[in-house]
Amino acid sequence: MAHKCFISFKTQDHEFKKYIHDELDIDMIDKSLHEPINSDDEDYIMRKIRENYLSDSTVTIFLIGTKSAENAFLENQTFIKRELQASLYHGANNTKNGILGVVLPDMNNSIFLGSDNCSTCGNSHTIVKINDDTSITEFSYNYYIPNNKCSWTEDDRYCILTSWEKFCENPNYYIDQAFDKRTRAISAYTKVRP
Ligand SMILES: [Zn+2]
Repeated sequence: MAHKCFISFKTQDHEFKKYIHDELDIDMIDKSLHEPINSDDEDYIMRKIRENYLSDSTVTIFLIGTKSAENAFLENQTFIKRELQASLYHGANNTKNGILGVVLPDMNNSIFLGSDNCSTCGNSHTIVKINDDTSITEFSYNYYIPNNKCSWTEDDRYCILTSWEKFCENPNYYIDQAFDKRTRAISAYTKVRP
């Protein structure tokens, strides 16, 4: 069955959101947070974003473009951070969403860096640069959940990551993977505001 998706993206990347909406067979909510919710009550803010925007979605697709990093120069990341926080928020009336990061074409060479030998264990690791220079902390923390090891297996991560090209070939394959994480053991270790 198709899982309903919410898409978190920077306005600069709206053409990719439009492509998903128009060309891919995905059940999606076509909304974006564009005004702040004024309250000092964090739980209230999370609830309101869930009610008014994320609604009954179970997977959030985060489009990782050139403007969506924590450290992106002069970018205000409030809305994408709030969307991801509310996605990770496990409330009384909702379970947290699965999180699927999709690396847009202009970011492939900044994130997928091949492989290198590890100075700790001597084995070869795939180098995937997900940090504050390439994405927001809400994504990077829950992708590389601290595990006191030199590498991460698929079971060590909550977020799923793929490229735009692979995503377009088989979107529901990746959406299903993100959905399934909600009931996996690693789901107990996510953070809403890392
Ligand atoms: Zn290692």
